[in-house]
Amino acid sequence: MTGNPLLTAALAVAERVWRVFPLAPGSKYPALHGEKDCPRTGACQTTHLGWEQRATADPDTIRRAWQVAPYNVGLACGPSGVVVVDLDVPKHRRDLPPAKWTGRGITDGRDVLAALCEQHGQAWPRTFEVRTGRGGAHLYFAAPAGVVLRNTCGEKGNGLGWKVDTRAAGGYVVAPGSVVNHRPYTVVNDTAPIPLPAWLLGLLAPKPAPATVVVNAGAVRARIGRLGAYVGAAVSRETAKVRETGEGGRNDRLFASSAALGRLVASGALPEADATDALLSAGLEAGLGEAECRRTIANGLARGTGAMGRAA
Ligand SMILES: [Zn+2]
Repeated sequence: MTGNPLLTAALAVAERVWRVFPLAPGSKYPALHGEKDCPRTGACQTTHLGWEQRATADPDTIRRAWQVAPYNVGLACGPSGVVVVDLDVPKHRRDLPPAKWTGRGITDGRDVLAALCEQHGQAWPRTFEVRTGRGGAHLYFAAPAGVVLRNTCGEKGNGLGWKVDTRAAGGYVVAPGSVVNHRPYTVVNDTAPIPLPAWLLGLLAPKPAPATVVVNAGAVRARIGRLGAYVGAAVSRETAKVRETGEGGRNDRLFASSAALGRLVASGALPEADATDALLSAGLEAGLGEAECRRTIANGLARGTGAMGRAA
């Protein structure tokens, strides 16, 4: 047993193989120096290491560090393999939910997550939970494999909603056993964190980057330009229609334009590869995925060439 409750807290967190680092006593802020003030000694001898790199589960390192001062315990979420959903409470009486949440009895982050559960037809995720000093909650989840989640803040970006932050790679939380402004962080549900539910992962996962442009649009235009004004005009017209169609009708439009150009392919005026490249370039620009584009174009061209065959 130790007479140093914060050391005990740090070791207890590390026993779960979570990585910890010191926060300034009584605070939420890292006790480690920043890059600007790096003395380039000790752990930083070769290069400055921030809290995320220095976070550790090694008991000896932890004992040495926590003997220096009664540090609070920071838990680095990324290296610990956890995603923490931080359910906050209003900071003052006028810290009210935005209009979309009013009239629904929503007063804090816990209410917002409950509303999201209901909206998605999901049960409340029961997992390792810590009550924060101010009366909020930290729900811990095992981070998903194969995708790196980053922090989110409120409703911004991929954020879950008002008073709901998430801490993942690049983020940390104040771990249980810490005391901020004389208020302790305490474990209220001591269980192993469940995997982050798929529906939450779906909301938090970075949206796929725009499709890699696999077609050099300029080169395609140049090739088609050499085929003559009539074919060039038809290709420009059909690809413009695809580019200008909004979400919802894009795939149908791509099919119709592919069928239209398929008639030129069937007549021998337009090489099939050029038609495909021009349509693919337009489809990607419209925001469709490459695989989906290629399927639709192939079907559309087949329709167009088939129609021509029947007419002939
Ligand atoms: Zn340093």
